[in-house]
Amino acid sequence: MPESIAIVGAGVAGAAAAIRLAERGVSVELYEAVAEPRPIGAGLLLQPTGQRVLTAMGLLDGALALGRRVDRLFGDTASGRAVLDMSYRRFHPEAYGLGIQRGALMGLLWGRVRELGIRWHCGVAVEGFEQDEQGVALKLADGAAVRHSALILANGSFSRLRERMNVDQHVRAFPWGAVWTVLPAPPGYPEIELRQRFRSASQMLGLMPVGKTHPGDGERGINLFWSLPVADLEGWQQRLGLDRLKQQMTTLFPDVAPLLTSLHDAAQLREARYADVWMRRWHDGRVLAIGDCAHGMSPQLGQGANMALIDAHELAAEVGDDWPQVFERYSRRRRAHLRFYGQASKGLTPMFQSHAVVAPWLRDRFFGWGGRLPYIHQQSIATLAGVKTGWLWGRLKL
Ligand SMILES: Cc1cc2nc3c(=O)[nH]c(=O)nc-3n(C[C@H](O)[C@H](O)[C@H](O)COP(=O)(O)OP(=O)(O)OC[C@H]3O[C@@H](n4cnc5c(N)ncnc54)[C@H](O)[C@@H]3O)c2cc1C
Repeated sequence: MPESIAIVGAGVAGAAAAIRLAERGVSVELYEAVAEPRPIGAGLLLQPTGQRVLTAMGLLDGALALGRRVDRLFGDTASGRAVLDMSYRRFHPEAYGLGIQRGALMGLLWGRVRELGIRWHCGVAVEGFEQDEQGVALKLADGAAVRHSALILANGSFSRLRERMNVDQHVRAFPWGAVWTVLPAPPGYPEIELRQRFRSASQMLGLMPVGKTHPGDGERGINLFWSLPVADLEGWQQRLGLDRLKQQMTTLFPDVAPLLTSLHDAAQLREARYADVWMRRWHDGRVLAIGDCAHGMSPQLGQGANMALIDAHELAAEVGDDWPQVFERYSRRRRAHLRFYGQASKGLTPMFQSHAVVAPWLRDRFFGWGGRLPYIHQQSIATLAGVKTGWLWGRLKL
């Protein structure tokens, strides 16, 4: 009976869990379906919580060298009404968000996985599992079976393995997605804030400085995010076309024009779809779900990758001899934080991505006004910073 535990998926959650567990002396094996994982993916905003976990892994300096500090989040409507204006400094004088390309973050995490000598099987999809009192048998895509003492599912929102856990759960593919790309920052471009422009909740443009992918790169990037209903995402190149899409962007936010000069091919834009994942608990005996697999949500609150890092960190803090007990303690430890952000995401996302009329109308009237009240501003920025564990009080201590 091998003592090692298996982690399925080498995204942010799986790679970070492998690192934190290996650092605690646990023997880990990583299984990743993609044969040659490449550092791709949308720009991420790493919150002070995610930065704290990177510090614990010794990776924050590397992330700072690649990413860009974001001091402020500012969003307004096409008619010029300020909706969001949040400054990290009002949360803590030294706090900031870190805009980083997912590829840059993955490069750092995978580098650490290799340094720690973690066994990593690329191009090996896990198709099923069976657990008994002694361990978990994994069924691999090539028909082979391997045994481990426990299993961590970190294979994203659309995991089919999660359904095999004996836990109440539901998954709702979100009706809206996005196209996004990273474009070179034009000279003089202000790279200090995450900028959003809305028209009702049916149009949203987001711009975020994200730095570079590799230390040697000269160019600094701006992540561009354009919200679209999933129904319009499929085949948008033929139905809408790049020129009309760019025109919609500049009509909504004329200042984006200099950035769009380097967007000349529809293939530069990648599509993103997401899902809301709810689970009554995150463990079932010797199996645990983490990251998007456990609590996928829309990217509106900028928390998914941070949550994945926190999951890994908190799991390592509970390591002991008995995996079912470790997983149960982990579930208890994560409950308040994950429930708060799940609810906040469900409540807020339709105000930014939907065909709703009333919700964005209320957003435009009250968010800017409420944000000027010190208490509301504090609560909003604490939510953004990723530290809240309840609507009225409760802070995450990492
Ligand atoms: C447009 C967009 C913007 C975002 N912005 C932010 C942001 O600003 N801040 C933030 O914190 N988060 C953000 N997120 C969310 C963040 O990207 C995710 O929450 C995070 O990447 C989830 O990581 P994960 O490891 O849980 O899952 P994933 O990244 O989905 O990784 C899952 C891995 O599992 C592998 N896999 C799948 N099935 C199998 C199998 N059967 N066997 C083996 N391997 C398998 C996959 O190949 C993949 O490598 C954003 C997401 C999107 C789409």
